[in-house]
Amino acid sequence: MTEKLIIIGSGPAGLTAAIYAARAGLDPLMVEGFERGGQLMITTDVENFPGFPDGIMGPELMEQIRKQAERFGTRILSSDVSKVDFSERPFKIWVGEDEYSAESVIISTGASARWLGIEGEQRLTGFGVSACATCDGFFFRDKELVVVGGGDSAMEEALFLTKFASKVTVIHRRDEFRASTIMAQRVLDHPKIEVIWDTVLTEIFGETVVEGVKLENIKTGETSELATDGVFVAIGHNPNTKVFADQIDLDEAGYILVAPGTTRTSVEGVYAAGDVTDKVYRQAITAAGLGCQAALDAERWLESQH
Ligand code: NAP
Repeated sequence: MTEKLIIIGSGPAGLTAAIYAARAGLDPLMVEGFERGGQLMITTDVENFPGFPDGIMGPELMEQIRKQAERFGTRILSSDVSKVDFSERPFKIWVGEDEYSAESVIISTGASARWLGIEGEQRLTGFGVSACATCDGFFFRDKELVVVGGGDSAMEEALFLTKFASKVTVIHRRDEFRASTIMAQRVLDHPKIEVIWDTVLTEIFGETVVEGVKLENIKTGETSELATDGVFVAIGHNPNTKVFADQIDLDEAGYILVAPGTTRTSVEGVYAAGDVTDKVYRQAITAAGLGCQAALDAERWLESQH
């Protein structure tokens, strides 16, 4: 049997696409992936998603949106896609060893923040360790924070965090920033920001919340400790596009290219939405918006085919 629409990925983009597609009668099949729910599953309070004046926990928000998608008949496979073939229609999608076929596809596999992989980082994620200042900065009013990284994301996170924090320390592994000159200069000029060069974090410590970091100067080998209330890791994101790499056009960083103002990819009938196409906004609400667009794009295209 050929599905009308298969949605790959189950963050805000995929689930919103599923709600719209299911209500449009497309009877979508969602392959939610083993890391179901996406990046919000590793967030604690979400206070910027409209409709929740008292905030909501990230996993609970995703559970609610998932229920809403199921209520309209979305079928969900709790597995990862292992391979796709978009070279002819219907498109083929393998989930483990099982082959599925679909007239149209929405890819919403998101992006994953890169992590340092050091002791304490995983354990304290959501308890002072974050990869998203826009999401979590608000909780650190008058606190001292650390930002790790030297690219534009790190500069942006550091500058954003100065709105709340009393002090922000940017820790970078080299002696110059990779970021654009203007962003770097803003950071260097900011009275609340201090920069520690040539230094890596070796551990994030704290009993139940972040209390500090252990540092190592990679030029001198000198080690030290710095007390801090939070650590924002801003060393980039990786879009989850490995299985699509030889099937649709990606940009140099691996994000799926879409026609401007649409969710159309380089393959007719295949759409992409959410962080897998977006390295600028990366918000749950913008991803949800793109998911809605993708479902409408797919619906209209399917209609035009019949
Ligand atoms: P990026 O440019 O790849 O920078 C990543 C930074 O993290 C680099 O400074 C890198 O150090 C450091 N890093 C990577 N792995 C590390 C590790 N394991 N330990 C310690 N440090 C590590 O990533 P990005 O900042 O997310 O930016 C991605 C793209 O989006 C860029 O093209 C950027 O210009 C763009 N962007 C633009 C804006 C804006 O214009 N407003 C905002 C955000 C992002 P090294 O420098 O030593 O490699």
